[in-house]
Amino acid sequence: MQIREICEYIESWAPLAWQESYDNSGLLVGDRSAEVKGVLISLDCTEEVVEEAIKKGCNLIISHHPIIFSGLKRITGANYVERTVIKAIQNNVCIYSCHTNLDHSPKGVSYQLAQKLGITGQVLKPMRDVLKALQYYVPVSHEKAVREALHTAGAGNIGEYSNCSFTQEGLGRFQPSTEANPHTGSAGILSEVNEVKVEMIFPTHLSGQILSALKAAHPYEEVAYSIHSLDNSWQDVGAGYVGTLEKPLSPEEFITFAKKRLGLKALKHTALPSRPISKVAVCGGAGSFLIKEAVKQGCDAYISADIKYHEFFDAENQCLIIDVGHYESEVMIIDAIHDYLSKKISTFAVLLKSETNTNPVFNA
Ligand SMILES: [Zn+2]
Repeated sequence: MQIREICEYIESWAPLAWQESYDNSGLLVGDRSAEVKGVLISLDCTEEVVEEAIKKGCNLIISHHPIIFSGLKRITGANYVERTVIKAIQNNVCIYSCHTNLDHSPKGVSYQLAQKLGITGQVLKPMRDVLKALQYYVPVSHEKAVREALHTAGAGNIGEYSNCSFTQEGLGRFQPSTEANPHTGSAGILSEVNEVKVEMIFPTHLSGQILSALKAAHPYEEVAYSIHSLDNSWQDVGAGYVGTLEKPLSPEEFITFAKKRLGLKALKHTALPSRPISKVAVCGGAGSFLIKEAVKQGCDAYISADIKYHEFFDAENQCLIIDVGHYESEVMIIDAIHDYLSKKISTFAVLLKSETNTNPVFNA
């Protein structure tokens, strides 16, 4: 198995197109065509993690946070980023990162945090501009074959429903020129064919393969189709997660509960409200950008990390804001990546979770 195949498995869960514009997810160091000897999964990629990979015979590190984030102008070992990259290259260790694309994926980082707290619900802020609609016209004889080819290529999925499409029967007309090579009909003669118009949605990042599948399966020399951008958000893809607890808790009970479930010695929070906590939003990692969304949706509490002093004011005491720490809010993604890859590549021998604690923050 090559490194590229592992990258493709991860990207079928967390497409690179879903990362934020400032991000740097993907293969950062190494050769895609190298054979995989072993995979080590971590939250961060540090020199210690590269050493652990070497020691355990792993030549691919999958880390949530990208070690190369804002670009490197020189690699001289002057800081931990450069030293980590040098060590990886010298030891033929590849480094792959799935960061904000995995934050936005179904069952991504925030979902995993919500699972730890027993919250069932949905994405807090679904993404826009990630879906398109396809319309095409096909002779009745080829309707099924073309539709199935498009579904195989990834079109027609809505939530837990696959093979979704709509068809409408009609009459197609065309007149081939003398240069044409028509599937049916003759040059200079107007043809009329029983056709169907088919509509289905598809993820924007699959546009290339969807069009290729349409043209490969369609019998006509010139395929009549149109692609439309949609304003619809994708309910399963986006930032944060919101839902309800298994049972309402008093604010004091909820603080104790969150500490226990997340294995925390301490956390930071705003003043405890007088009402019980039932509806809770979460966002793994730096999530202050979602405080207002959590308030807008009437959440009793919002759990995230990296919340600045003044941002604690943003909830205006309408929602209990809790900062559990960046590492602590995301570390569960290691298990999730491990479980995902274990199912995808059941014969794979070396698939390990890093035992290096990369958290640079200590609670005294
Ligand atoms: Zn993070």
